[in-house]
Amino acid sequence: MEFSMIKEILAREPKYRLVQVNQAIFSDLAESWDEVTALPKKLRETLQAECPLEINAELSLSDDKDTAKALIRLADGKFIETVLMRHEDGRNTVCVSCMVGCPMKCAFCATGEMGLLRKLTADEIITQVLFFSRFLKKENARVGSVVFMGMGEPFLNYDNVMQAVRILNNPECFGIGARHISISTCGIFDGIRKLTTEDIAVNLAISLHAPNDEVRRKIMPVAEGYTIAELLTVIDEYIAKTRRKVMFEYLLIDGVNDTDEMARELATILKHKLCVVNLIQYNDTGAFVASSHNRMNRFKEILEKAKIEVTMRYRFGRDIKGACGQLATGRN
Ligand code: SAH
Repeated sequence: MEFSMIKEILAREPKYRLVQVNQAIFSDLAESWDEVTALPKKLRETLQAECPLEINAELSLSDDKDTAKALIRLADGKFIETVLMRHEDGRNTVCVSCMVGCPMKCAFCATGEMGLLRKLTADEIITQVLFFSRFLKKENARVGSVVFMGMGEPFLNYDNVMQAVRILNNPECFGIGARHISISTCGIFDGIRKLTTEDIAVNLAISLHAPNDEVRRKIMPVAEGYTIAELLTVIDEYIAKTRRKVMFEYLLIDGVNDTDEMARELATILKHKLCVVNLIQYNDTGAFVASSHNRMNRFKEILEKAKIEVTMRYRFGRDIKGACGQLATGRN
């Protein structure tokens, strides 16, 4: 889906055509220009030839139907994955990719093993949301929130990610509120700083996964370039400027980062911060063993006793390899 090209074509047309086209793409969720009968036939044909609305994707559904994963084929033949999570309360969240692969090489993540093949354009990012908007329309449901937690590091593709965010947020397009859009980063300082200057107040999540540099450096190569103390200073500046709560993601790996002592260490470094810790059970990628439920509960308890707000992420889609860290198309 090439929205930028559509805009170029419409620049030669009267202004109201863009309104009609936005309506067709984002509200009516047309899957082909043939359906958009409000437009003159000739324009429809041009659009069909130059920027078709069809999305080339294969869908897998988890057994419990909570999760759907789409393998999307891009124009250059590369593949990405996108996940739809259906929450019990009826909300629907799309987890989008921002790269084909990822250069960060986190030891626990299957996407990292692919390396970076290329970054996605804003069009390719929003195509993923469009795909699931169309899917949900058949049940009269809609996409309520979007998280940048699929393949890739959003802050190493900052401009395209933010352009996608603007289209997601635009009331004439998806109209998804900023509070329902989250960007997750492994901790790229430039991106965190730049985000404070944006006029769309999206949520920020930081993949921390360790309470000290020694442990973090073992599992996240990005941590070799700076200390957690420096990262937390950048986050303090972010919080001071935005007054927005930051989410720290912490995946629990057996024997690596899940001891009582590490929970206490984590509580100490996050004390008095405007934040929430999201504990995630490690999803198997073959590299480590997940912490037990008992261990996770104990870790949570220690943080809570220290007055740290904690959530535990509901796990989606393991049976279709659609859970965090499991996205690796095997097709590129
Ligand atoms: N690159 C971004 C976003 C992508 S991953 C980032 O690093 O934040 C989304 C989240 O899933 C991150 O917190 C990531 O560390 C986590 N994750 C990666 N592999 C995982 C695995 N095997 N099990 C559980 N969570 C994982």
